[in-house]
Amino acid sequence: MSLRMGSWKQLSVGAKMALAAGLFLTPLFLGLFYLLFSGGDPFLRFGKFGFPLLFILVLGLAATACLFLVTFWFVNRPLKTLIDLMQTAEEKDFLVRAPVVSNDIIGRLSRIFNRLMERTTTLDVVKLETERKLIQVQEELKYQQVLEERNKRLVLLYEIAKAISATLEFDELIHVLTEVISKRLGFKEFAILLWNPQKEALMVRTTYGFKEEVNVQDMTFKKGEGVSGMVAASKEIIYIRDTRKDPRYLHYKGQKKEEGSFASFPLLFKDTLVGVMNFSRPGFDQFSDEEREMLQAVASQIAVALTNVDLYDKTKNLAIKDELTDLYNRRYLQQILPMEVKRAKRFARPVSVLMIDIDSFKRYNDAHGHLEGDKILKEFSKLLKSNLREVDVIVRFGGEEFLIVLPNANRQQATGVSEKLLDLIRNHPFLHREDQPMGRFTASAGVSCYPEDAQSVEELLDHADMALYQAKGQGRNRVVYFSEEASVA
Ligand code: GH3
Ligand code: MG
Ligand code: MG
Repeated sequence: MSLRMGSWKQLSVGAKMALAAGLFLTPLFLGLFYLLFSGGDPFLRFGKFGFPLLFILVLGLAATACLFLVTFWFVNRPLKTLIDLMQTAEEKDFLVRAPVVSNDIIGRLSRIFNRLMERTTTLDVVKLETERKLIQVQEELKYQQVLEERNKRLVLLYEIAKAISATLEFDELIHVLTEVISKRLGFKEFAILLWNPQKEALMVRTTYGFKEEVNVQDMTFKKGEGVSGMVAASKEIIYIRDTRKDPRYLHYKGQKKEEGSFASFPLLFKDTLVGVMNFSRPGFDQFSDEEREMLQAVASQIAVALTNVDLYDKTKNLAIKDELTDLYNRRYLQQILPMEVKRAKRFARPVSVLMIDIDSFKRYNDAHGHLEGDKILKEFSKLLKSNLREVDVIVRFGGEEFLIVLPNANRQQATGVSEKLLDLIRNHPFLHREDQPMGRFTASAGVSCYPEDAQSVEELLDHADMALYQAKGQGRNRVVYFSEEASVA
């Protein structure tokens, strides 16, 4: 029974109509057949009812046919259209609408369908907008991350700039740079090479994290030599993704054997080469574009700092050095001598002072001119410098008068140094020395020493001066040691 009920339900509207019509027409047709073919005259058999009966039969037939047509045209056809539309909608075209041509039940159905579609379309728009917003938020997040990264980098750059501009001393700057690059930027291996304009070469000034540190220190590269030399020549960054495969990389002339990636940056100040900065890392292609960009910015900061230090050094030198001879000047003596005397007092050590004056220098100037005289002064200064210790301070005290501070030297040692110097002067082949009174250049020296014969800076200087005066008085070309009696005389 349930199966039969189910089968009935599964029938289409048309089939149901046909079935109903069949049920209705079958007795009619049976009646008609009976009337027509049961023999004899139907009109006679039914008498006066014969014709009306036939009329009713034909009318019934025509009504059924009309019912069919009407059902097909007004029910089946619009329903089919609606079904097609629903299928289209199912395939995601939510913009389909059913035509509303009547106000009957199908018209209402179409309207309901259309409203449903409108709702769905609205829902779809909402969904679309939500998705769009989601993407937008994601994009903004990404952008924010990029901005944050940039921000971090800027802060880092600022900190680096601040750290390295805080010092004007070269050694301290190198120390700060090493700290900043290794700790703040996290690089385990790098080197700074400085450009030496006199030698026209790059010199390895500092390295960090190198295994064979001693071997590369002070190594030089001419322009074009190795990657650093090429960077110096082109003033452009060179990035080597794999040092094994790039013949330009010279492994610091064979000293640095580890392989990896290598990035070399020029240190430029207003397009002037200051040096080159090299970074290396084990592994292939370890420097991202962003990192290289950041390092380039760091490199220009470093170049500025190095230039500042250099300028400061030059200015400082100008203030304490004599331009002609590159020896210290009296201003520097005023700073250093009190300190030396204090140091000597505190540590119970001696300190001596020599005053040397070139003999008959006026005569040389008169004979050969001031410029030639300058040359002698320069050469004389070089001679002094190359024959004294690093700790000795040589000062151009006056025109052709020099003062030498000898820390930790007592009277005897200072006299020994003076004798040695005068001897060197006598034997040095200065130009036109044969024109000097003794056929060579000579000098006179006065010596005084703390604590043996002077207790203060002033006394040291005065006594050396007195001794020199005596040396001149005694006929020049000699060393005189300060003595109380002689000074009274
Ligand atoms: P003495 O043996 O007594 O020291 O005689 P002197 O001629 O060396 O000494 P004096 O003091 O008479 O003259 C010093 C000369 O040194 C005078 C000057 O021409 C020269 N002189 C001083 N400063 C310079 C300088 O910067 N360049 C040159 N070329 N000569 C200088
Ligand atoms: Mg002189
Ligand atoms: Mg003099």
